[in-house]
Amino acid sequence: ISKGFRAARERLTGKGELTDDVVAAALKDVRLSLLEADVEFNVVKRFLQSVKEKALGEKVTLVAKKQGDTMRVRPEDHFVKICHDELIALMGPVDTSLNRARKGCTGIMMVGLQGSGKTTTAGKLARKLQKAGYKVMMVAADIYRPAAVHQLKVLGQKIGVPVFSVDGANPVDICADATDHAAAEGLDFVIYDTAGRLTIDEPLMKELDDIKSRVQPANIFLVIDAMIGQDAVTTAKTFDERLDVTGVILTKLDGDARGGAALSVKAVTGKPIKFLGIGESLDKLDEFRPEGLASRILGMGDIVGLMNDFTEVVDEEQAMKDAEKMLSGSFTMDDFLSQIKTIQSMGSMKDILEKMPLGQMFGANIPPEALEKAADDKELVRVEAMIRSMTKEERRNPEVFLDDEGNSGRGSRRQKRSIHKSAKEKDPNDLRPEDFVAARVTRVARGSGRTEDDVRGLVGRFMTMRGMFGMLGDMFGGLIPGMPAK
Ligand code: GDP
Ligand code: MG
Repeated sequence: ISKGFRAARERLTGKGELTDDVVAAALKDVRLSLLEADVEFNVVKRFLQSVKEKALGEKVTLVAKKQGDTMRVRPEDHFVKICHDELIALMGPVDTSLNRARKGCTGIMMVGLQGSGKTTTAGKLARKLQKAGYKVMMVAADIYRPAAVHQLKVLGQKIGVPVFSVDGANPVDICADATDHAAAEGLDFVIYDTAGRLTIDEPLMKELDDIKSRVQPANIFLVIDAMIGQDAVTTAKTFDERLDVTGVILTKLDGDARGGAALSVKAVTGKPIKFLGIGESLDKLDEFRPEGLASRILGMGDIVGLMNDFTEVVDEEQAMKDAEKMLSGSFTMDDFLSQIKTIQSMGSMKDILEKMPLGQMFGANIPPEALEKAADDKELVRVEAMIRSMTKEERRNPEVFLDDEGNSGRGSRRQKRSIHKSAKEKDPNDLRPEDFVAARVTRVARGSGRTEDDVRGLVGRFMTMRGMFGMLGDMFGGLIPGMPAK
């Protein structure tokens, strides 16, 4: 859709940094994009000015907290983020609250052009409030089109909300009567559905002004059809100057409208956007959130994902390192623990392994009991306890739990001293290496409240897993960038 904005992004791709020239060219593209999205000309101008200042002023670096080193953010992504943030700032501050009357029943007056969605939105609001446990009534104050009163009554019936109407009376009196009635009934909210016109005229404005003076509603919501584009600005300005509305509701955002009207309306009136109408049915009313609308105005559906990339870039790098570590066969017990935890948080390990090509590949090699075990939450607690009972050195280098035949604690007498060097350093007494192994297993078992067999089982599983990943690394290592083939 948004050629302009995409063009801007592409223009910046591959550029080393955001220089004056590059930014100026990109801003031209964005300008086109915003105008296409129905953002008002002066609003566009202001927007571009502040984006320009930010783009040239900020350092395009992001400190990767975990690694303690610095990683570059691509200039085009940085530019998109600045635009996105600036749009959100322009549409904010977010205030989707309803004003409440100091005492008694709270009034909500719907105003706007004919066909903007006042009646429909009145029904949506009534439904929302009723669902929240309030006693609500709607008032049929559009008496000029016979169908209008009927439309509201049908809506009311659908959601079980009473509709107040008086035949033959004028709208101001109807609203005043309704207000008294609501107070007498002890209702929480009364919603006035007023008349609109195809274009703004003085008799309509006077009528609305009179209703406002008589019932003094705590909320006056200007309902605007997002499809009217640039006209939204004049409409909003005129209604607001006369009635001093408390908020704006933008409807028909389920259609093609890019939503730039929201930006313009907020900019010219300074009034908060409260809700967005996103469909004809009565549940299609969302509280306003600028993030979604900003992406829409920019014409980029993937912006939320991009923003996430921004915050997760650090974790992403960690994940790559983890993967490399695993595939190189050099991961430790600590890595093992964090891997199990990650996988566990994603759901059943068994399911995941079964779905993954990797899991299928090793399906034959992993005994079903092992999968069940790994998928068991309690097992994770046990494993964690055992790993926590290990020394740093033991976690880093779990070979110290094995004798030279790969047995943990009950093995051959033939020892390779080199494997147990660190153990020897710690204890200069002339003990045999297998005694160290057995002593370690016993100590970890005691420390974690598990049996020695549990500890040996864990070490065995760890070794199998590490071996498996090491094998994978040997097979594919050369294909993974940044990882030397063995
Ligand atoms: P009013 O003249 O301001 O009272 O407008 P209505 O409530 O009668 O709505 C006019 C038309 O717009 C009706 O056909 C509604 O169903 C439709 N409409 C209202 N809100 C929305 C919306 O959020 N999305 C869509 N697609 N249609 C809407
Ligand atoms: Mg209506």
